[in-house]
Amino acid sequence: MERLVRSCYRQGGYVFAKKAGGSAHGAGSDRIARLASNENPEAPSPAAVAAAQQAVLTANRYPDERVDVLVAALRAYYGDYTFVTGVGMDGVIETLMRTLVDPGETVAISAPTFSFYGLAAQAQGAKVVPVPRRADFSVDTDALVRVGKAAKIVVLCTPNNPTGNATSADDVQRVLDEIKGVLFLDNAYVEFSGIDYLPLLRKYENLVIGRTFSKVHSLAGLRIGYAFVPAWLQPFYMRAGTPFTMNSVSAAAAAAALSDKEHAARYITQVQVWRKRFSAALKFPVLPSDANFVMVDVAPHTGDEVVEKLAARGVLVRSCRSFTGLADHYIRVSVGEDWENELFIRELNAL
Ligand code: PMP
Repeated sequence: MERLVRSCYRQGGYVFAKKAGGSAHGAGSDRIARLASNENPEAPSPAAVAAAQQAVLTANRYPDERVDVLVAALRAYYGDYTFVTGVGMDGVIETLMRTLVDPGETVAISAPTFSFYGLAAQAQGAKVVPVPRRADFSVDTDALVRVGKAAKIVVLCTPNNPTGNATSADDVQRVLDEIKGVLFLDNAYVEFSGIDYLPLLRKYENLVIGRTFSKVHSLAGLRIGYAFVPAWLQPFYMRAGTPFTMNSVSAAAAAAALSDKEHAARYITQVQVWRKRFSAALKFPVLPSDANFVMVDVAPHTGDEVVEKLAARGVLVRSCRSFTGLADHYIRVSVGEDWENELFIRELNAL
C-alpha cells in the first residue's frame, strides 16, 4: 500500500536529535546532559506557566483565529509590525511555502542549514536548490543572488543552524536588493547574536523574518513560532494556514513570556559566557558562534561516533551528519546548565 504515499514522503524526512532514554539511559547515567536540541535548560517563566494554566480552563472553546493576545503582545514588545503565527517556526515555514510556492518553482537555500526548509518546499513540489556557503561557512552572497534571482523564495538562516555564524545586515540587504521573490530570514537564534535585522522590514516589501519561542523563551514544548511579514502577505498566509493555527494555551503562555525579560536575559548571559569557555577549554576546534550552540570539529572522529560515545557517558549532543553539504566530522552542542557544559567538556576532551 505504500505506493499510495506521495513520493516526497516515501524516503528521507526530518532527522531528530538523540533523545534521553536511548543509550545514555542504558549506560546507567542518572543525570543526562541534554545538549542536542538548542533548548533553554531553564523551565518556562512562571508568568508563562500561570497564563497557560489559566488558558486551559477555557480550552473547551476554540481559540481566537487571529491570535490577538499574542499579536498584541508582540506589537507591544517590538512595535508596529505585521505578524503571523504558527505551530513552531516549523509551522510558519510550512504555511509560508504553502502560501507562495507553486509546483516547479525554485526555492533557493543557503546551505548547509536547517533541513526543514527543503522538506517543506519539496512538499509543495518546489525545485529546491541548495546554494553552498564558503569554506568558512560565510554566505556566498554572489552565488545566493545568482540562484535567488530565479527563485520564489530565498532562505537564509542567521545565525545559522548548525554552523552558528551570523550574516551581517549589510549582506542580507545585498541579497534583498537583487532578488524578485521573498527572502525568508530565519532568526530562531537572533536573540543570542546582538544583530538587529528589523530595520530592513521598513525598506523591503519582500522580507519575512521568522522567530520562535522555542529557544530563548523556554517554550519548545508548546510549539510557538511567529514571523514579521509585509502587510500584503498576511491575509494570504491566513488563507493558506489551517483555520486555527495556534492553540489558546500556547498563545497565552507566549504572550506572558514576553513580559519576563529577566528570564530571557539570564540565558543570554549564560550563552555568552559559555561560548567563550567552550572555545577555550575544548581540545577540538570550536567554530565562532552567534547562537546558543557551537559547532565543534571533532576530526579525526566522525560526528556519529562522538555522539554515541558521549551518549554512553550521559551527554546528548547532535551529530551534523544529516545536514546536507557538511562533512561528517562535526557535532553541534547547545549551551546548557553549568554542570551539563562542564560534563560535556570533560567527556569530549577525554575521547
Ligand atoms: N529554524 C531553525 C534554524 C531551528 O533550528 C529550529 C528548531 N530546531 C526551527 C526553525 C524550528 O523551531 P520551532 O521549535 O519554533 O519549530
